[in-house]
Amino acid sequence: MRKNSLSIHSENILPIIKKWLYSSRDIFLRELISNATDAIKKLRVLRECGQASDDAIPFEIHVRTDKAAKTLTISDNGIGMSEEEVEKYIAQIAFSGAEDFLEKYKKENTADPIIGHFGLGFYSSYMVAQKVELKTLSFSPGADPVFWSCDGSSSYEIGPADPKERGTDVILHLSEENAEFLQEQKVRELLERYCAFMPDPIFLNGKPLNNSEPLWSKPPSSCTQQEYLEFYRKLYPMKEDPLFWIHLNVDYPFRLQGILYFPKKIQQMETKLSKVMLFCNRVFVSDNCNDILPDYMMILRGAIDSPDIPLNVSRSYLQIDEKVRQLGAHISKKIADKLTSLFKTDRQSYIANFQEIEWLLKLGLLHDDKFRDRVKDILIWKNNSGEWTTAEEYLDRAKEKKIYYCKNECASKMAQAYLDRGVELLYTSNPVDSPVMSALEICNKIKFQCIESELEETLIDPSREKTLLDAEGKSGAVRIADLFRAELPKDLKVEAKSLSSDAIAGLFLVDEQARRMRDLGFLVQEKSNLANIGRTFVVNTNNKLVQATERLAAKQPDLSKRLAQQIYDLAKLSQKELEQNEVEQILSRQQSLLEELVSASV
Ligand code: ADP
Repeated sequence: MRKNSLSIHSENILPIIKKWLYSSRDIFLRELISNATDAIKKLRVLRECGQASDDAIPFEIHVRTDKAAKTLTISDNGIGMSEEEVEKYIAQIAFSGAEDFLEKYKKENTADPIIGHFGLGFYSSYMVAQKVELKTLSFSPGADPVFWSCDGSSSYEIGPADPKERGTDVILHLSEENAEFLQEQKVRELLERYCAFMPDPIFLNGKPLNNSEPLWSKPPSSCTQQEYLEFYRKLYPMKEDPLFWIHLNVDYPFRLQGILYFPKKIQQMETKLSKVMLFCNRVFVSDNCNDILPDYMMILRGAIDSPDIPLNVSRSYLQIDEKVRQLGAHISKKIADKLTSLFKTDRQSYIANFQEIEWLLKLGLLHDDKFRDRVKDILIWKNNSGEWTTAEEYLDRAKEKKIYYCKNECASKMAQAYLDRGVELLYTSNPVDSPVMSALEICNKIKFQCIESELEETLIDPSREKTLLDAEGKSGAVRIADLFRAELPKDLKVEAKSLSSDAIAGLFLVDEQARRMRDLGFLVQEKSNLANIGRTFVVNTNNKLVQATERLAAKQPDLSKRLAQQIYDLAKLSQKELEQNEVEQILSRQQSLLEELVSASV
């Protein structure tokens, strides 16, 4: 047995590994199983090209826990290593990587979960082991078995080993605080988590683990609907079946396989973090793709497997990585294609699921120009007949080249006035509709207008305008406007108009631009501190209540003022502008007005 020194300057690797990687110890097992899988793959390749003979022994990976010896052993019957190779690959390359790692990530926050993304390789075993031994026999005919041992200090032992089968055993002598990895159940959980889809059979203490072929690696044409659903259930056992899915299978310019599912019943909070699992060559890497998928895809579920995603780099680097960018762009195109084809071929199901997909569509449209161009024509809104329509279809039917919309399915008098005139109305309810409409206006050269943004000419009855001047030279309309203006907020524009419908007492107009600014504000902050910019309160001079309010001004000024305020508040209520804390005030005023009017008439 020879003693030798590791090519690393640090005196002891163990404290370094522990210091930097403690937060995600579990991954050592993933790394060692990956190495075992690679070793098998290498031998398989050599056999395929005739450089190694086939002994018909099936490839297997065995994991064994030994409580008495306090060891965890990972064995494979892959390519194995000669003494020279152990020196080269394990002693030099692997450990010198530790220094690079330290240099590069010295400043990284230790609590950062990205740690789990590093391809730590062999030496991650020192996160749990105080000593690691290796017994290996190369596949090369006549090779001698090699033993290597290192306790994490800067020296190691290397020499001949007892006879053994082809392949490598990695024996971890677990430290006291890592005794949990001697528990079969604990190791089983980890293997099921990280290695469920690895290509070679894995055994734990002689018992086979259910490792299965991941569905994403099968050609999409041979996968059945049932298989897609079963795969989803396997990944997310507690969830309802998904709406639909996309099978990704790319070879160039990057390699990517995966299945992305659109889930049912998305909770708002679920849109913040990705639930898509990330694999690299079937090895589980992470249960989220936050750094790979664009934010608007956070609602998706499923799994993607790409050997091209750089795992051993930091988060900020990932975001600018060209391959990652291309990958996001590819997935975005696939999603747009899927939704478009659903829209075209099965509109009924598209409509039925629209509420679930609209967030992704709309946020994607706002954040990604290419995505916007692909989906801009498949956005739909519900109209006043309860049908779902695109902007284009609306315009084909409309007399005017404008799309009228209103918030929610409000049955306001204003909406009724438009409907009476035969105008089709679209209902919006999503807070991002405003910016979405602005985006569509630019790229589709169309115009959206909220029915509450201006007074349509047909809503005005010029024949009944109160133009007659009084002794002070004021028309009836001016008097009414003055009366209301005095009672309402100073920054609110007030106008009195002769409306064709007598039923409306007062209504709000909000300038389209101001409305959109307001909606944008709503996305970032609460509605409360919005001023009356761009807002006009229109009082209807033909409404009986308004007329009575004006007549009462001289005789009962107090009652008249309260009526004016009530008319204003009722209009706010009708147009869903009322703040919660204003409701109490309007109700108590309503009651006192009723009491007063009733006592006057009995
Ligand atoms: P990586 O796997 O990323 O190359 P590692 O530190 O895990 O880095 O391993 C370094 C090298 O050691 C591997 O590239 C491989 O050549 C060799 N090696 C590690 N584990 C095994 C194994 N089980 N069988 C054969 N060779 C191995």
